[in-house]
Amino acid sequence: VCSQSPRSISVMGSTGSIGTNTIDLIARNPDLFRVEALTANRNVDLLAKQAIALNAKMAVVADPESYESLKNTLAGTGIEVAAGPEGLLEAAERPSDLVMAAIVGFAGLAPTLAAIKRGATLLLANKEALVCAGDLMMAAAQQSKARILPVDSEHNAIFQVFDFERKSGIEHITLTASGGPFRLFSQDQMKHVTREEALAHPNWVMGEKISVDSASMMNKGLELIEAAYLFGLPENQIKVLIHPQSIIHSMVSYVDGSVLAQLGSPDMRTPIAYALAWPERIKTPVAPLDLARIGQLTFEEPDPERFPALDLARIALNEHKTVIFNAANEVAVEAFLSEKINFISIARFVAEAMGSFPGLEEASLVEIMDLDKEVRYWCYEALKTYLVN
Ligand code: NAD
Ligand code: MG
Repeated sequence: VCSQSPRSISVMGSTGSIGTNTIDLIARNPDLFRVEALTANRNVDLLAKQAIALNAKMAVVADPESYESLKNTLAGTGIEVAAGPEGLLEAAERPSDLVMAAIVGFAGLAPTLAAIKRGATLLLANKEALVCAGDLMMAAAQQSKARILPVDSEHNAIFQVFDFERKSGIEHITLTASGGPFRLFSQDQMKHVTREEALAHPNWVMGEKISVDSASMMNKGLELIEAAYLFGLPENQIKVLIHPQSIIHSMVSYVDGSVLAQLGSPDMRTPIAYALAWPERIKTPVAPLDLARIGQLTFEEPDPERFPALDLARIALNEHKTVIFNAANEVAVEAFLSEKINFISIARFVAEAMGSFPGLEEASLVEIMDLDKEVRYWCYEALKTYLVN
């Protein structure tokens, strides 16, 4: 990449866990990247600091109430400012070679789709967008020739060893899962886990929503759906394997018995760097993989009794209920994080939501957004029967 002129990049969700790691790698490679736009929800201080340090052309806050504060903080810098959903769309639509989609949740869908539609190379971390609008996003990418490079470590691993040209040689793929902080907990023990326990992931430091998703294995459910769309595979060709050390990031099994895997230290800067530099590679500060020190890699089957999330994801995919699955999970995670519902209620609540709505096929963005809204509306009523006090 060193010989090429710098590529322009916009980072959606630059203040989050993926966002700050992305900014760190961009800052380490000033000759390779030029920053177009940065966006955040409402962390004005960090957003402004990043925008100034990287000489961004535009900074956007999703929260309209943070607009004045951002404007004042960036006054005199020449950096354009905007806010709200329109501001996010503008950031995604401005010409840039790359767009890092690192907003968390359904809120990232519209800007992510906009970036695909204009043919940008999309570095996809925002899995919820693909879960809710996989058909739409993949079709739009095909039409605009946008490339989608997965940032999620499992999908990034598969992308690195997946023979796209000879797909008939692929038997199945295996997503590995750490099992999260409650891997060895009984159903009963999981009833009483706290917010803090759910947020303490054994191997990864991540945003709050994905940390809870990892503990409930909803994250692996979302990832199963994500993989189905990214790699064009039916649900029955996607397996999940618990691997507590998080060293093998995922695998592709070929019909001749070969299994190709990607390994590395559990550090998101590796998949982010891969997506940033693709098809080249850049150096990262990631700790080198020391297998002798790790000593053992172990594996277990996931337990569908204690972790119903995977089966729910398979049903969601087969019955076209991924929008419902995602919206109910987002509401439930938020309720758990504000200590309104028990941890084990999350999966039960998602199952109830999925049973309460019909599936939605071949939907437009407007139809997907309407269904998301409708499910959330239902959720706030339905959640009442799950409240802890
Ligand atoms: P995070 O909570 O740390 O950061 C989220 C970012 O999105 C922040 O910049 C925040 O300001 C912004 N944001 C939040 N709500 C918003 C809204 N309503 N509108 C616009 N912007 C909003 O989350 P994260 O852990 O960085 O995860 C981001 C995405 O990447 C998620 O979809 C997650 O599943 C995925 N992902 C994360 C990791 C990880 O290690 N953190 C790994 C794989 C995939
Ligand atoms: Mg992952």
